[in-house]
Amino acid sequence: MALAWIYVAVVGLLVGSFLNVVVYRVPRGLSVVRPRSACPSCDTPLRALDNIPIVSWIVLRARCRTCREPISWRYPLVEGANAVIWSLDALRIGFHPILVAVLIGSSVLLALALIDAETMTLPRVLVYWGLALSALAMLIAALGSHDVHALFRGLVAGAGWFLVFFALNFASPRALGFGDVRLAGLLGLLLGWWGLGEVLVGFFAANVLGVLVGGFLILTKRRRRDQPIPYGVYLAAGTLFALWFAPALLSHWPYWPQR
Ligand SMILES: [Zn+2]
Repeated sequence: MALAWIYVAVVGLLVGSFLNVVVYRVPRGLSVVRPRSACPSCDTPLRALDNIPIVSWIVLRARCRTCREPISWRYPLVEGANAVIWSLDALRIGFHPILVAVLIGSSVLLALALIDAETMTLPRVLVYWGLALSALAMLIAALGSHDVHALFRGLVAGAGWFLVFFALNFASPRALGFGDVRLAGLLGLLLGWWGLGEVLVGFFAANVLGVLVGGFLILTKRRRRDQPIPYGVYLAAGTLFALWFAPALLSHWPYWPQR
């Protein structure tokens, strides 16, 4: 069991390293496959040994081996964050077939949140890849665990949440961009596997967090009142919150039908 944990964390670090590439290249319309990772300052391609998550950054003392320009602390931070998120996913779900779908979904959410925070956009191609890969992994998990109902719930919740946000976007396209509509579909798909309660907790947590953080930023004058908020960041955070804590929350709420 301990080995399985270490495995999840290490693969989480490697995928986190790839997320750095995704977060940098996808909003710029660049391929995530080619060319190989290079130093952003001097363009020297990274050697495999200089591309080990977190370790290389520490060994190189946060500087490029060739040009000695500083390497941003964001790279090891994103790698570590993805490993922590994956570990929490495994802690909550255990080594059930659905874990793969949740790991894929969590990483896509992390990448989307980082891109939205930086550019106020949610690249369509990334949301679609996230939806397609998560749905495929859920299909495999549903067949493997003979739980087609859970898959059905996920698909219905994904479509339902997409439509709710579609209506909100229609009513007020300035307040809610279409990227958030697509992302809501991913939230519904990932949380719907467990049930409606999880989907509602995810939506509720996203908005509470958005109001709290947004209000704090306005009060401390770090954001103007009329400035748009990167809603995708809060949707992603709310989804992860619901994945980890919704079952415990719902079991403490006496009016929620217990399974
Ligand atoms: Zn360099």
